[in-house]
Amino acid sequence: MTVRETLLALRGLLVAGGIGRSDLEADRILESVLSRSREFFRIHPEAPCGPDVLPRAAELAGRRIQGEPLAYVLGEAEFFGLPFFVGPGCLVPRPETELLVEAVLSLPGKTGFFADWGTGSGCLLASILKERPDFFGWGVDAEASALAWAGRNLQRHGLTGRSKLVLEPDPTAVPIPPASLDFIVTNPPYIPRSALPGLMREVRDHEPLSALDGGAEGMDLIFLFLRVLPVYLRPGGALLMETGGADQVKRLVGEEFPELIMEGFLRDYGGIPRHVRYRRR
Ligand code: GLN
Repeated sequence: MTVRETLLALRGLLVAGGIGRSDLEADRILESVLSRSREFFRIHPEAPCGPDVLPRAAELAGRRIQGEPLAYVLGEAEFFGLPFFVGPGCLVPRPETELLVEAVLSLPGKTGFFADWGTGSGCLLASILKERPDFFGWGVDAEASALAWAGRNLQRHGLTGRSKLVLEPDPTAVPIPPASLDFIVTNPPYIPRSALPGLMREVRDHEPLSALDGGAEGMDLIFLFLRVLPVYLRPGGALLMETGGADQVKRLVGEEFPELIMEGFLRDYGGIPRHVRYRRR
């Protein structure tokens, strides 16, 4: 079989399984099986595939059709231009979260101590450390299953010497010295509980609920973090947080947090107010 024939067969399986973007997903699956890029497939459509290639690709397509997120099936997702190992137990990195990295890169200062609260795959932590070789970052998470992914990713990107992972569900009990951090980034769970059943099946049935469920209005962790995390920030330190969007940002604009000054919000690629930015008094 050739690359072209294999891709055709794979697309057929995916279409029959109800996968919408079958061309794209067939490419991604074959890329993963062959360790070759889709550019190679386009330039060499007649390149031969060994007899084991289609069966291996079909197995991955089968998992996808059963509802697993594509990133879990591939075992990998890209974030801020870097590959991250992902799988059950960590949220798949989302493109809008990359805007938090950009916001961090626009902060003044070439050295810094920071924390990524709810680090999950470690994508925020690792991409910030990669961009800023003189930074040191803490990755905090409430779930051991998530931290296992973060640990693998820090290792993969050679960042274990400049980071420390902390497993601690109570944000007031983390062993970070008070007033020591220059900034905190966080993508907390922010989906309102009532909206969880309506999420896409691949998200709802596979990604960790603890990374999604934000309580009744989706803002339990947002409010908790805004109340208790400033203690770890030095005066003037920044807190950058992803939210569920315009309604949540509007709620926050109307709230006072004694230790924080709201400095503004950032819109995502869809133009929706998404990330909020505070400074510690
Ligand atoms: N952006 C994710 C989603 O829409 C939710 C991530 C989160 O709750 N922080 O599925």
